[in-house]
Amino acid sequence: MSDCIFCKIAKKEIPSNIVYEDDRVLAFKDINPQAPVHILIIPKIHLTSLMDINEENSDLVSHIAIVTKKIAAEYNIDQKGFRLVNNCGKEGGQTVFHLHFHLLGGRMMTWPPG
Ligand code: C5P
Repeated sequence: MSDCIFCKIAKKEIPSNIVYEDDRVLAFKDINPQAPVHILIIPKIHLTSLMDINEENSDLVSHIAIVTKKIAAEYNIDQKGFRLVNNCGKEGGQTVFHLHFHLLGGRMMTWPPG
């Protein structure tokens, strides 16, 4: 999508601090970190939210789970623990309408989230 900021980041039209990349996903540091480790993991193709996941493309979500594990190990939060967040839709707190998962770690998380 031409006006999607995360599509632009995926195409490297906008700079970002990339920590992982393969043919299907990109992971980069969040510009407004909410924890010592705050990384966004996005599919390179434009999907508006988790609501765009279906039987045909659901392997992307399991791939993101594997990528999450790799990044968590690299940032040394795999054993201590971390949080993987997907905000879906306006009331879910989503502000960028390109599917993304927040990998948060490096501090004690609290519950419930606000
Ligand atoms: O889940 P939500 O849509 O609210 O998250 C969007 C996230 O994208 C925010 O944490 C924001 O800081 C991040 N962001 C970014 N780089 C941009 C625009 C937004 O890291 N250029």
